[in-house]
Amino acid sequence: MDKIRKSVQAMQGYIPGRQPAGSFVKLNANENPYPPSPKAMEALRRTAEDSARLYPSSTAEGLRQAASAVFGVPAGQIVAGNGSDDIFTMIIRSILDAGDTLAVVDPTYTLYETLAEIQGAVTERHPLGEDYSLPESFFESGAKLKILPNPNAQTGTLFPEKDIERLVKSARGIVVIDEAYALFAGASSMELLKKYDNLVVTRTMSKSHSLAGLRVGFGLSSPEIIEAFNKVKDSYNLNAASQAAAAAALSDQEYTAGVVKKITETRDAFAKRLSALGWQVAPSWGNFLLAKPGKGEASGIVERLEKEGYLVRHFNTPRLKDKIRFSVGTEEQMEKLIELLKKE
Ligand code: PMP
Repeated sequence: MDKIRKSVQAMQGYIPGRQPAGSFVKLNANENPYPPSPKAMEALRRTAEDSARLYPSSTAEGLRQAASAVFGVPAGQIVAGNGSDDIFTMIIRSILDAGDTLAVVDPTYTLYETLAEIQGAVTERHPLGEDYSLPESFFESGAKLKILPNPNAQTGTLFPEKDIERLVKSARGIVVIDEAYALFAGASSMELLKKYDNLVVTRTMSKSHSLAGLRVGFGLSSPEIIEAFNKVKDSYNLNAASQAAAAAALSDQEYTAGVVKKITETRDAFAKRLSALGWQVAPSWGNFLLAKPGKGEASGIVERLEKEGYLVRHFNTPRLKDKIRFSVGTEEQMEKLIELLKKE
């Protein structure tokens, strides 16, 4: 099909976690098993009627004000996105020309590479160490853009703050720290925004705030970089209902803290029980665990769990194919999962 751009013809496209119809226990997309804050649901109900007819705020004004209050960063240094995936689109569109280089670690969230492919940019993958630590080559790379989730996707690893600062300080280009899972780790690099103007921090409302379906995320950076993101973003990228609900959810910090506490406690208890069953479990600071079965093949176990109504995630890539990623559900869901895994 020569009418399609060569870079698009050559790419595979990102494969998201499945969302099949039917009643599954969904532990395959790192969604939150608990409902959103009641204040968010109230805001959603209140806005839907009023706001359908008119365009929403193109800059998500109220939501960015709420984010500014919670993050302690001026609203002019924040852009809101239709999920943090939308922020990555803004980042790649505004920074990478065809032929430029994006550096990522491996394994990690693969969407960054997909977006770079669309742009015709080149992706350099830097394999993490055996213990999933950052390799020297990632620091040394002269790539125009580096993106690193912290905690890392799939592995759950939390990279130390001194590594993040070294990365930002030594970079020739822009460094993005994807903090999708930061609240589960109780760690953040947002303080570094005061010191470095080549740093972008991203956040999502999909994980710790239970709003994956409403699609809300943020990018925080220096005013110059945010100005560039505003130029390339879709004009009305966030619908009115999502803006209102996300602002309410973000402000309800007590509720979020309670949910995060339950999930991290369940995660740590599940990790212990999985280890006791002979699985090798990577230490995780996210709302998921990456683990390798003591016996049996990961892909077969995933299929059998699906027949029992449990969806978990398997990645068919060299370093992940012998492992399973379990999102952390409720305590009861994880209890039942352990019972199923005992039969393996
Ligand atoms: N970053 C990472 C590391 C993720 O794992 C995910 C979830 N797939 C996202 C971002 C996407 O988040 P959002 O729902 O905000 O687009």
